Amino acid sequence: MSDSGFHHDRGHTRPRIGLYVCHCGTNISRMVDVVKLAEEYSKFGDVVVSKHYRFMCSEPGQDLIIKDIKENNLDRVVVAACSPLMHEPTFRKALERAGLNRYFFEMVNIREQVSWVTTDYDAATNKARNLIRGGIARVGLHQPLEMRRVPITKRVLIVGGGIAGIETALQLADGGVEVILVEKEDSIGGHMAMFDKTFPTLDCAACILTPKMVSVGQNSKIKLLTYSEVEEVAGYVGNFKVKVRKKARYVDTEICNGCGACYEACPSRPLPSMRKLRMGNEIKKMGPALNHSLAEGEKLVRHEVEHADVH
Ligand code: SF4
Ligand code: SF4
Repeated sequence: MSDSGFHHDRGHTRPRIGLYVCHCGTNISRMVDVVKLAEEYSKFGDVVVSKHYRFMCSEPGQDLIIKDIKENNLDRVVVAACSPLMHEPTFRKALERAGLNRYFFEMVNIREQVSWVTTDYDAATNKARNLIRGGIARVGLHQPLEMRRVPITKRVLIVGGGIAGIETALQLADGGVEVILVEKEDSIGGHMAMFDKTFPTLDCAACILTPKMVSVGQNSKIKLLTYSEVEEVAGYVGNFKVKVRKKARYVDTEICNGCGACYEACPSRPLPSMRKLRMGNEIKKMGPALNHSLAEGEKLVRHEVEHADVH
């Protein structure tokens, strides 16, 4: 590598860059002066070849790049076209076919980020000009990366046990993938469990949801962690380490059948401010507003207690 950060593996002391500006039919060219930009950059920095073409991703478009790489001994390529999500792999493969490392490539997005989002021709051309300059500067610093295969753990963590999380978990499990479904509430179901009907068919929400909830509970591929929250995520794609806090249950989960009777009677359950909890004649607990009022005056207490009793 040279002092400038340029990796020269073909005996050059400077990068030899090919720039290709795509028209995308009229998708780009109607808003960006692609011809002018290709001309402007033909004598810029380390650019050796600068061309514009109607459809860069087409077979002839790719052949144009491959031919130029071979004939002009190019070692870097910039394509100003659409989003890298769309065609970066296409052009990387073209570089490989020409004998170049596939990562000596930079894609500049002048369609989704420029021509599709403005009606100002001059401003669009200027923005495309700046983005291309950035791409040219960046590609000279690229390193020859190599792809490799690494083992991954085929296990998926899903955060949130609403209908989306439930459906995803079931489908993954059907596909043979181990799933860990984390839900912060004490039951899966989410908002859908609170609805009566679902839009637009007005189907009964519970009729759709409850069989799926049962399937999650019974599926041996799905590990369900309810009343739990993700605390830490470390690692990287294909190899994450996640710390999940399982909140205290206060019951023996092996024995509990979830009937809910203890919840109704529980003395440490937080009470709404205007409620009190009795056992026989004995008042076990009052909401904070009632406790406060007791200290202030009997009259107010009676009023509030009565008020609380009817609710
Ligand atoms: S490379 Fe992208 S911008 Fe160019 S023609 Fe193909 S889809 Fe359109
Ligand atoms: S009362 Fe019902 S919900 Fe409460 S611990 Fe016992 S079995 Fe579980």
